[in-house]
Amino acid sequence: MSSPLADFIDRAQRLFVLTGAGCSTDSGIPDYRDADGQWKRTPPVTYQAFMGELATRQRYWARSLLGWPRVGQARPNGTHAALVALEARGQLEVLLTQNVDRLHQRAGSRAVIDLHGRLDQVRCMGCEARIAREDVQHLLLACNPGWDQLDAAQAPDGDADLDEVDFSRFQVPACPQCGGILKPDVVFFGENVPRDRVATVQAHLAQADAVLVVGSSLMVYSGFRFVQAAATAGLPVAALNLGRTRADDLLSLKVEQSCASALAFLLPSAANA
Ligand SMILES: [Zn+2]
Repeated sequence: MSSPLADFIDRAQRLFVLTGAGCSTDSGIPDYRDADGQWKRTPPVTYQAFMGELATRQRYWARSLLGWPRVGQARPNGTHAALVALEARGQLEVLLTQNVDRLHQRAGSRAVIDLHGRLDQVRCMGCEARIAREDVQHLLLACNPGWDQLDAAQAPDGDADLDEVDFSRFQVPACPQCGGILKPDVVFFGENVPRDRVATVQAHLAQADAVLVVGSSLMVYSGFRFVQAAATAGLPVAALNLGRTRADDLLSLKVEQSCASALAFLLPSAANA
């Protein structure tokens, strides 16, 4: 059984795949935006506020203390598995993800670029040391006994909703080596994607013969610009997303379905069925 999406993928030899939050919702990690691409909640913290204000870091880490376990324990879903299968078919140029949850790698994808970094790692802004997020979790709990008992609704990217809490009492751990500010190794809003990472992505895009967007509204410019560049270069672009995307005008094919079901034909079990 064929579909326009299957035909699009079959025609490509070197697919540039760009994924977003819609890939991870089936793994229990909430999405940022609604079907119109609007914020569902208050926008996330900015780089400037995080680096500039202790109060912002207190609030960030208090919420992260509660939100991290859900991300750290999340398991890949059928969408991740389908993209592993696509790579196994030899048709993948690269998988560029805007997600910071590492679920593509956990599923077995190899040619992955984490455009916005990785939440399972923490970076010292003083000495550039990298610390596992899990180790920082132990530091956070040691400095703030009892905080893990607070109840909070889960939010995207290891965040959690914590209202009416006095964050000024929260102890923010510093770098164990130099005392510097610890920051998740992810690109915050208001922060640029590292230049060498952008150059690597552009090199892959130059090798690609088609672009497939999976589970992203492309509202963030750092991802959208690659789709824009692909369309300008004349590459066919398909998007699989529930709801509007910023690139709707640039698409050769738009599929509004759940990612996992639309890509299920790629799974080895589907071929045998
Ligand atoms: Zn340090």
